[in-house]
Amino acid sequence: MNKALVVGNWKMNCSLEEAKTLAREISEVLSELKGVEIVLCPPYPYLVPVKIEIENSSIRLGAQNLYWEGKGAFTGEVSVTMISEICEYVIIGHSERRQIFGETDEIVNQKLSSAIKFGIFPILCVGENLTQRENGEASSVVSRQIEACLDGIQSPNGLAVAYEPIWAIGTGVAATPEIVSEVMGGTITGTLNRIYGEERTAQIPLLYGGSVTGQNIESFAALDCISGALVGGASLRSNEFSEIASITSRVKTSG
Ligand code: PEP
Repeated sequence: MNKALVVGNWKMNCSLEEAKTLAREISEVLSELKGVEIVLCPPYPYLVPVKIEIENSSIRLGAQNLYWEGKGAFTGEVSVTMISEICEYVIIGHSERRQIFGETDEIVNQKLSSAIKFGIFPILCVGENLTQRENGEASSVVSRQIEACLDGIQSPNGLAVAYEPIWAIGTGVAATPEIVSEVMGGTITGTLNRIYGEERTAQIPLLYGGSVTGQNIESFAALDCISGALVGGASLRSNEFSEIASITSRVKTSG
């Protein structure tokens, strides 16, 4: 069995005080939660302050990105070794990194390799855009992304894959459970099976991301192919994020 995960991607939001309050509120409500690992991914400058807020709880810390070199003349970047000193998790290949900052599958591959090498658990994001979905290319796009991003990465000990259709991110229009089943239970599982074999693939948590809310999480968590969720907007509201995590825990521990 792989582990259930609920990950909050705060993106470029919050003041320092807001970040600390959000982390404190979430850890107060969720630190005793069973059967699901909660990961908070604040912006870089808030990693250490948030780490201090959650240190006596079961909540884990993740970064939203990293740079694969250990150190050197890379102004503005934060290295894999720096992240490995502070975080257990890292989001890699988010569609905003790909679309706004030009990250290619090759760059994502380098980031993934370095995260794994330095013992950080990467959450690889993949997903098609609206045009690709409308053209019937969703499955081929997602499978190509996974193959290219994981190229040369041998049987990783820690890795999660998040299916985040770009048209569902921040739009309020989540994918339907049918689409999620088809892509995650079909395409993503099938592609990972081809690369790593069924036994190893069964250990890789698959997360759904894209307009997840307290109202719709149950319909996603109920799917066998899903181990949890990557949550953007709703992770900035402590009550709603706690509700999403609690529902995921209830559904995943009741089966
Ligand atoms: C995300 O950006 O990873 C995300 C899933 O955002 P939202 O939940 O706001 O759609």
